[in-house]
Amino acid sequence: MTDTAAPTADRAHKAAKRYIYFFGGGRAEGDATMRELLGGKGAGLAEMTNAGLPVPPGFTITTEACNDYFAAGEKLPDGLWDDVLEAVRQVERQTGKGFGDSANPLLVSVRSGAKFSMPGMMDTVLNLGLNEDTLQGLIKLTGNDRFGWDAYRRFIQMFGRIVLGVDGHRFDEAWERAKEQRGVKEDTELDGSAMREIAAEFRQIVKSDTGRDFPEDPYEQLDLAIKAVFASWFGKRARDYRENQKIPHNLGTAVNVVTMVFGNMGDDSGTGVAFTRDPNTGEKVLFGEYLTNAQGEDVVAGIRTPLHISDMRDRMPEVYRQFEEIAGRLERHYRDMQDLEFTIERGVLYMLQTRSGKRTATAAVRIAADMVEEGIITEQEALARIEPAHVDQLLRDQFDPRAKERAQRITAGLNASPGAAVGKAVFNADRAFEMAQQGEKVILVRIETSPDDFHGMAAAQGVLTARGGATSHAAVVARQIGKPCVAGCASLIIDYGTRTGKVNGLGFSEGEWISLDGTTGEVFVGALPTVEVRFEDQQELQKILEWADRARRLQVWTNADKPEEAAMARRYGAQGIGLCRTEHMFREGERLDIVRDAILVCFQATRAKERREAGEALSAEDESAVSRFDEALGKLEELQEGDFRGIFEAMDGLPVVVRLIDPPLHEFLPNHGELLVEVTRMEATGVSKEDAKYAEARELLRAVEALREQNPMLGLRGCRLGLMIPDLVKMQTRAILNAAIAVRKAGGDPHAEIMIPLVGHVNELAQTRTILEAEAKSVEEAAGVEVDYKFGTMIEVPRGALTADEIAEHAEFFSFGTNDLTQMAFGFSRDDAEGGFLLTYVERGVLPDNPFQTLDIEGVGQLVRTAVEKGRAARPNLKLGICGEHGGDPASIAFFDEVGLDYVSCSPFRVPVARLAAAQAALTGAAERDK
Ligand code: PEP
Ligand code: MG
Repeated sequence: MTDTAAPTADRAHKAAKRYIYFFGGGRAEGDATMRELLGGKGAGLAEMTNAGLPVPPGFTITTEACNDYFAAGEKLPDGLWDDVLEAVRQVERQTGKGFGDSANPLLVSVRSGAKFSMPGMMDTVLNLGLNEDTLQGLIKLTGNDRFGWDAYRRFIQMFGRIVLGVDGHRFDEAWERAKEQRGVKEDTELDGSAMREIAAEFRQIVKSDTGRDFPEDPYEQLDLAIKAVFASWFGKRARDYRENQKIPHNLGTAVNVVTMVFGNMGDDSGTGVAFTRDPNTGEKVLFGEYLTNAQGEDVVAGIRTPLHISDMRDRMPEVYRQFEEIAGRLERHYRDMQDLEFTIERGVLYMLQTRSGKRTATAAVRIAADMVEEGIITEQEALARIEPAHVDQLLRDQFDPRAKERAQRITAGLNASPGAAVGKAVFNADRAFEMAQQGEKVILVRIETSPDDFHGMAAAQGVLTARGGATSHAAVVARQIGKPCVAGCASLIIDYGTRTGKVNGLGFSEGEWISLDGTTGEVFVGALPTVEVRFEDQQELQKILEWADRARRLQVWTNADKPEEAAMARRYGAQGIGLCRTEHMFREGERLDIVRDAILVCFQATRAKERREAGEALSAEDESAVSRFDEALGKLEELQEGDFRGIFEAMDGLPVVVRLIDPPLHEFLPNHGELLVEVTRMEATGVSKEDAKYAEARELLRAVEALREQNPMLGLRGCRLGLMIPDLVKMQTRAILNAAIAVRKAGGDPHAEIMIPLVGHVNELAQTRTILEAEAKSVEEAAGVEVDYKFGTMIEVPRGALTADEIAEHAEFFSFGTNDLTQMAFGFSRDDAEGGFLLTYVERGVLPDNPFQTLDIEGVGQLVRTAVEKGRAARPNLKLGICGEHGGDPASIAFFDEVGLDYVSCSPFRVPVARLAAAQAALTGAAERDK
């Protein structure tokens, strides 16, 4: 499609701005670059017209007109209507038809189309321009009475529902009644006179429900339809969809007024949708469906079962060949898989839409990899095409195959969107949404979904429908938002009244567990266990991630506390451990008792040791506290050394950042309230003071009370703990370094980096360093070897970030603890905010995102940036990383790349996502710099 004509110069307009772009007769005033102004559909129609493809003439009213319409209080901007009339005249000249002309009527569709595709979320009106007069012209021209009346009743129905706000069920019920009264089952059995009577009844419904006659004047119809399409931009489902997809609300929709072509003019006519590649698997085949003698809405509504697109090859070979050729051209032109809409009117093919096709994660990866092989796109473009969420999806669980064999499979439908979903069956989108809000896992089960169900689909684990094909609403939307979906389970009888789904009497009721396999289309009763997908088996994903590794600057490390986690992260491509939270090992098995033992006497023992060092003699009680403490720490040291050895071995040759103990000590002790109840209960039952259990409980209670703080997260934790109880620092230092020595002796290559948490003042770090280095020295002396380790700190207290230059004097590396940094910068409690007001904040737009998930760049990001600049100014080779939850969030990763960190560290499962996101950040950054 290199023969694209240049857009024509400005067109005359009465409105203050140019709001109209015409297309037709091989020339268009817009082009593919104008998505923002013309919407995706308008830009696509213009581009296809310019390329000489068969597109019915029409014009696009810009998104700017929509925004100005709302800004003016839902009033068309002055002069716009005159410009619309001029454009209609131009369409008339192009087609030789007349708008409102009873002899040769021009009929149009009025379609929405925003910058980003929002499938089915906004409104469209077809057959506009029909009235009793023009209908006669249409019948005469086609010689088909039934066709004319059918088109008219469809128009009344669609216009009535969308533009005049009549409840759609009113028409559906009248339609079903009409068939019943005439004793017919299929729509096609209704003849022209039946259609005429139905049209009259539909008009009557409009009149009784709206109190006005159905508008006969085509220009009034056009005026109302344009406004209705504008209004649909702020309709509930469009809003919900934008919220979910993070599409801004101020973009507005364009309106496309396009000459109608009819797919329902007989068996040589038809309509369909097709993708240039399979959107489920990515395979390079035309994929889609079409219906003969039908209009577009018939395909979407799932009333008749569409035929596979390949059937067209036999039924309309010439049209199929032309379509195949156009599909190939469009794909090469846009250099991406396309989603096409077409209509065949009496053997003549018309293209109505082209856009980048939505696809599953599997397809996204395969298409990107194949297109690089085919020389259509570069490796870098392939990387930009894959959403980080796609990678996430490919790593999602599958059902355990053995459990599947034993499970009760009740039916199968279309494998509309892959993955395994398990949840309680719910038959209504609102209820699904509410239950999910309460933390329940649900599967939304519907006869078919409509855009009004979107919030329920987004909240559900998966979606199951009884009707609809691969291009049905349920399938398209589920694929896009990454939910498993089984569609079109024809044998499933869904009864909304009794809230049941049944196949031959077997089935499930609301609230019962079901499992969907969106990859195979199977439906099971009960909750099946799932298994991890094997990353190793995903060749194409691996290839893409290798390209990502070549493109990215940021390293990707992982947060792992155990050798198994470290090994898994390494398989996923982790280049180091950025955070090993040592205290996570304190809870395992027998360790908790040992830790508690140490905590009970830690302060007494520490004070006693200080006195002993000052030359004082210790009481017997102090002596016993010291030996109890040392004994507990000795046991812990041994266990920790074993843990560290395992981790160093798993990460052989790669850096391992081990953080010293961080949380407040009370986290390792029993709950105060429960303990108090227990002690009080014992006392009330007259327990003897000598009773061992009672004595133990009392001692624990005393310790818990001594350690209680009003704000523990702002209390005795992090480096503060190590300064109050230096033996903790010493014990952990010994465990880390001796583990490193042992692994090196055994031929390994450990790289220990010791990290001090929660530093806010340089002296905290300086004094910890003194304790730690003295201990390291004695470990080295005892072992007779030097250990190569790094010493660094977390930057997670705002004061630490602001004084990073001073802190960098003592640290070889910084790792940003953005969880605490966010908590302390906002003053939001990490433990409470997300369960309290924070999500409401996001819902109400007080905050754009949950700042614990996506870094608040303006605020917390500023602290990070300051610390990077100050830290590097003081120590140019300072190594910088991030280990808060934001390390696996693609949007935050882009910021960390921009600000110049060396690595991000995230949970093992997110390592592949971070590899891609880091590459995308580097590529976008390079593109920005090139501008
Ligand atoms: C942080 O605060 O970001 C961090 C990584 O440490 P933790 O979550 O353990 O407090
Ligand atoms: Mg922290």
